Amino acid sequence: MSELDIFCDVDLDAVADLLDDLICRRMSRGDVLMKAGELNSSVYVLLRGRLGVLADKDEELISEIKVGELIGEISVLDKRPCSATVIALEECTLLEIGESLLWSLVRASHEFARNMLILLAERLRSIREQFGKRVEMSKATERSASLDALTGLYNRRWLDNVLPLEMSECFSKGRALSFVMMDIDHFKKYNDTWGHQAGDCVLKEVANALKFVLRDVDYAARYGGEEFCVILPGVDVAGARSIGQRVCDHVRQAEICSESGKPLPSVTISIGVAEMGPKETPYTLIEKADRALYRAKRGGRDRVCRYP
Ligand code: GH3
Ligand code: MG
Ligand code: MG
Repeated sequence: MSELDIFCDVDLDAVADLLDDLICRRMSRGDVLMKAGELNSSVYVLLRGRLGVLADKDEELISEIKVGELIGEISVLDKRPCSATVIALEECTLLEIGESLLWSLVRASHEFARNMLILLAERLRSIREQFGKRVEMSKATERSASLDALTGLYNRRWLDNVLPLEMSECFSKGRALSFVMMDIDHFKKYNDTWGHQAGDCVLKEVANALKFVLRDVDYAARYGGEEFCVILPGVDVAGARSIGQRVCDHVRQAEICSESGKPLPSVTISIGVAEMGPKETPYTLIEKADRALYRAKRGGRDRVCRYP
């Protein structure tokens, strides 16, 4: 008994009468010790085996209880329903300390009370660590859901979320905002001639050109296929045009290589730019940039056109 953390330094002779009320409990694999949402009136110490803590409904295992650890102390202390379900992952032996016995031990032994506090502090720390890991994981999932896997640029889904926000932010501050739509020229022919993998290298190179030319506050996204777009907060159409021209020049001059390092022919890109006007919606702004892009294509490609 004295080897258990909860009884560390406790004068066991002094509380011998109370210890008679301890119950030794055995569980088989799959037995449920406590259920999420239900009240619990005992604290347990795991003596042997493994217990699993399951998230509320989805039965996902969130953590494991190790030998010597306390279980159920929080629901006994705050008298509220258990926040998780605990089941035996294998045959287990537990020491059960009923609620009234727990308080008797706290009253009778400072050491027992101190041990409870220490174990609670450890529990809080591990909950905080688990929470931190979950936040990191959900951030990573969120990041990957907004990124295009091939180019590392933002994806269309991200654009659909962010463009309205950026537009209303700039609008409310009286700042300009421009939108740039780009499309690689004769890309179908490039793919047909050099293969899809070579085409993928081109897409990555265009993304690199965008990362190179743009400021940190500009957002480049892959709109779809071989189309890219950029949100330029605080930039008017003249500024957008000159940024577009730099992208255009950069793409034309970029040296493109296959995965194995073999040089590939360069490509050109056509660009349309438009500035947000009053009563603009994301839909109408994209449409304007698209119309300017169409003019750039019809005008001979490898160029920037502005709306109107
Ligand atoms: P234009 O100058 O008028 O834009 O002609 P285009 O050939 O670029 O336009 P079109 O829309 O006919 O062809 C687009 C091509 O882009 C066809 C498609 O195979 C290619 N493409 C789209 N997504 C990808 C991709 O992820 N990888 C590769 N390699 N090619 C892609
Ligand atoms: Mg296209
Ligand atoms: Mg194209």
